[in-house]
Amino acid sequence: MNVPRPSWLLTSADWDTKLEVWSLRTKVGSVEGILRKLQLMGQGLDRDTVNKIIREAELLPPALARLTPPEVQDWLKQMRPELRTVLEPSAEKTLAEQEAQVRHQARLLEVARRWKKEIFVPRLLDRLIEDLSRSMMSSSSATGGYERSGEGIIELYCSVEKDEDTQWLFHGLCSHLHTSGHSDVVDSFGQWKSIGGAYMGACLALVSEVETEAERRTGLAICPDSQMPGRTPFFAMTIAADALEYHVSQGKRGLIEICGYTMDPSEDPRVLRFGAYGIAVGSTQGLKHCEDAHRQLIAHHRGAETSERLKQVVSKRQKLEALHGYIMEQLGKLTQTDFVKGVCELCH
Ligand SMILES: [Zn+2]
Repeated sequence: MNVPRPSWLLTSADWDTKLEVWSLRTKVGSVEGILRKLQLMGQGLDRDTVNKIIREAELLPPALARLTPPEVQDWLKQMRPELRTVLEPSAEKTLAEQEAQVRHQARLLEVARRWKKEIFVPRLLDRLIEDLSRSMMSSSSATGGYERSGEGIIELYCSVEKDEDTQWLFHGLCSHLHTSGHSDVVDSFGQWKSIGGAYMGACLALVSEVETEAERRTGLAICPDSQMPGRTPFFAMTIAADALEYHVSQGKRGLIEICGYTMDPSEDPRVLRFGAYGIAVGSTQGLKHCEDAHRQLIAHHRGAETSERLKQVVSKRQKLEALHGYIMEQLGKLTQTDFVKGVCELCH
């Protein structure tokens, strides 16, 4: 899963909690003492978490060390002499630094808004899957797409995480989420990428399964070009898309209700269309046979005895929609605020 996670991060405690623990570390010293103080303050952290938060201070990048209060900086300098040159004598933030931080916050919110616009749930008949079925194993558009991230693994992505102009800020935003108790948004995004990729792969396998069945029922192979008699790739794709929409919506909608079958007798060669999709080419009689087979296959895949593969695709799509809905909701809340909590290495 290719989602940024700062390497120094060992706990899901938010930045303010970490500052609290580090500050107590400078005042009371022992872990025992920190635990007692935290308990008195009504903050129930366990020993393991406190130990890990102290370890985080040892790993903290210099840019973040600069964001800690003076007493913590003094402790950090003792523990890590290499930070002495980075951490200048504690001073109030300059006006320029304050202004830079305001600009940084505005940019983080821009990136969050763009992220929210770009996240998507791929549809089976999208251009994406058409490209995929032509074995072009990557796609790009202004907002995102999918790509091969390893041997046979497809992942979804949003442009905001890839564009040179925004990828550092995107990493920064993820760090802010990780350090403000919202790691779950970044983790859900990682799942969206991988489950989305698995979903697209499963869609392709489903189309190929329907394809085999279609060939058996019609006796017609896929026509190599649109002038030759035969089925087009849309024959199986539209059946698979109908089955998927039908099962995902629990029988409420499918393609056949909106896509009728048409054939223009003046066209040469004759084409059988299902909605806008040319699904077969051939003689009038041959196309009638194709239409019957198409109808039968749609009815078969809508039935209770659906294939295991179709069930898997439906389940992945439902998971993907739930993840998409959750991320949209969280980013919606975030973009309605004017301040992104947490910290990143780009903070001032
Ligand atoms: Zn930041």
